[in-house]
Amino acid sequence: MLANYHSHTPRCNHAEGRERRYVERALEGGLEELGFSDHTPYFFDEPGYYSGFRMRPEQLPDYVGTLLNLREEYGGRIRLHIGLEAEYYPKLFPRLLDYLRQFPLDYLLLGQHALCNETEGIFSTHPTDDERLLDLYRGQTLEALETGLFTYFAHPDLFCFTGDAKVYERHVRAVCRRAKELAIPLEFNLLGFMERKHYPDPAFWRVVGEEGCAVILGSDAHRPQDVWDPKLIARAEALLSGFGIRPVERIALRPIR
Ligand SMILES: [Zn+2]
Ligand SMILES: [Zn+2]
Repeated sequence: MLANYHSHTPRCNHAEGRERRYVERALEGGLEELGFSDHTPYFFDEPGYYSGFRMRPEQLPDYVGTLLNLREEYGGRIRLHIGLEAEYYPKLFPRLLDYLRQFPLDYLLLGQHALCNETEGIFSTHPTDDERLLDLYRGQTLEALETGLFTYFAHPDLFCFTGDAKVYERHVRAVCRRAKELAIPLEFNLLGFMERKHYPDPAFWRVVGEEGCAVILGSDAHRPQDVWDPKLIARAEALLSGFGIRPVERIALRPIR
């Protein structure tokens, strides 16, 4: 692994370890690039509502400032990138962008943890056999990719569909085809792989291989030691090669300035 663009910090309330330790772990693994992509803040319309798994808007200056300092300190040893992992919430996204554009952010990853505008309470990881929800996930994530603002699609198979396999395949293929046309890489998520979650889903990755999409490994590190795990990476590469997939080592970032 030469680059990992998916790492978190404790600001999201479910990650641990100082940023510096993530950088040190990346250096141990010989990574040449490390990207931080903590869960973005958001501005919600519902009074009193705030998701517990993301930083608050007022924490963003400290997040960016801390990483700018580390970038300077570690310059010449590793390239540090400052990004965010963001859901695409149609009603709330424009205001978020206005805020984010005030900061020198190198990229956004799409991580669609909830549907609609989150406050409706439809979460991608809740198992369902309802095709309408799968269709909603497909439509919403494709709309996000069409904005051209996302560098890659993190855990694209996060949606937990328990219904008919043929239905699943049809929706997945549509996502893969459009991502390929837009030249947006799909992430094989190493955290889900390590924790044996419902993703990465082999049924998804088989289609990715058939469609010939660009694929990148993402550590999704919520602890410094998870930035680079050579045994896990080897297992992931073996699984992917069975689907004819060879992940790319690096990607071009899309700054949101
Ligand atoms: Zn997380
Ligand atoms: Zn993540």
